[in-house]
This record gives sequence, structure tokens and C-alpha cells, in this order.
Amino acid sequence: MNLKRLDPSGWQRVLVVVAHPDDAEYGLSSAVNSWTQRGIEVSYLLLTSGEAGMKRSPEEVGPLRAQEQRNACRTVGVSDLTILDHPDGNLVYGLDLRRDIARKVREFRPDVVIGGNYEVEAGWGLDQADHRAAGLATLDGARDAGNRWIYRDQIEQDGLEPWSVSLLLVSHPSEPTHFAEVAEADEAAAVASLECHREYLADLPWHPAPEEFIPPMLHGMGERAGVGRAMLFRAYDLAGVLSDEPAEEDAEEEAAE
Ligand SMILES: [Zn+2]
Repeated sequence: MNLKRLDPSGWQRVLVVVAHPDDAEYGLSSAVNSWTQRGIEVSYLLLTSGEAGMKRSPEEVGPLRAQEQRNACRTVGVSDLTILDHPDGNLVYGLDLRRDIARKVREFRPDVVIGGNYEVEAGWGLDQADHRAAGLATLDGARDAGNRWIYRDQIEQDGLEPWSVSLLLVSHPSEPTHFAEVAEADEAAAVASLECHREYLADLPWHPAPEEFIPPMLHGMGERAGVGRAMLFRAYDLAGVLSDEPAEEDAEEEAAE
């Protein structure tokens, strides 16, 4: 299947929803950097502070990982970071997550919402339970945000308005449909953003160094897309924003005619 190129030219705001600090730094932050460089505002919503992810106590780890995430955000031009206090390691797909994601969508009013893979297996093997819960809740919470009769307290008491997202993207999907081409500088920013999780990575001695696996990963995805470097996504077009975009091959054929 031909992967289609994402065109961010009409985007103003992008919301990235993940379970933990560092989840956005495994390739996705390269695309984020390419977008912030164009002036697109990108916000991260973390559902947990990743407090159960290190050898030290959760009380110590929560604030430490939040600081590492702030550093990572700065590296790729993300100025807006929200960290919720859902329990790390025990995320449950359901209305609690959908409600909080819908709230952030109504506050930030993004054109595009990006969540993670929500399948049992990810590209690297059995995925972590929080990732599945977060990914699925993102798909649903992002759509809930457009319905004023869902979570009515946010509308009627907190003064928010419904907001309809145009495009939902799933990062690292098993069956991608679209790609975002990234440049060498975006790759370097992505490596630097994961390196910001210094204390966390120091707790994982088996973990490969960011510069060892992120460049080959982006090149591998680029190969599938027919470009130098890329991030792949599965796209759900909620507002017909992708319908006019020809596939890369079609575009070449049209040009040749
Ligand atoms: Zn994670």
C-alpha cells in the first residue's frame, strides 16, 4: 500500500497524548520538531508522571521525570505540557481517561490529535498495558470533545466549548497509512529529546543509546515511505481534510500526463 504524505500546511495546533514521560521521544518527537519549526503549536498531554518506572520511590520519581519531560519538550519546541496524575502502570481504558483527554482537547482546540498504538503487539513486541489504554482512550476522548452532550459539566460549569478535531493520527501503528517526512535536524532533535530522560535511561542499562537506534528507525520508516527519514502514522480523517491529497505516485502520474 502506498503511504501518503501528510500536509501540515493548514495545521495550527497539534495535541500529543501519551501515557508516560518519554513515550513521545521514540521517533515521534522528530515530526513534532518539524512542525514546531514551521510555527505549529504542539502540546503534550501525559496521563501519568511515570512514577512507577524507576528503581527509586514513586514519590521521588514523579517530579524527576516531569523535569526530564520539560527538558525534552524544550528540545523540540513544545511549550505546553500537561501531566495528569492517573496511576502509572495501572491505567484503565474508560471514561476517566476519555473525560480528561476531551477536556484538554476542548481547552487547546487542536486541528490534529496524536495518540499511540493501542494494539496488543507493537513493532518491538508485546506492548505495555498503559500504552494500550492511553492509545484507545485518545481516539475516543478526542472525538468525545466535539459532542456538547458528553461531559456536560465541562461545557456548562467550566465554560469550555465543544471542539471537533479534524485529524486523528496513531503513531507506530502496525498498518500505517501516512507519513511525515523529517529532516536530519529533526532526527538530531529527536535524539536529544530522548537523551533528556537521563536519569530514567540510566536505570535501564540494557536500553540502547538514543543515537544508536533513533536514526536507523527513522531511516527505516523513510524507506517504507520512499523518502530519507520519516515517521509513519495511521490517519483517521474526521473532517475530510485528507480527501484531496493524491498519493505520491498519483501525483507523479498526473505531472507526467
Ligand atoms: Zn511508556
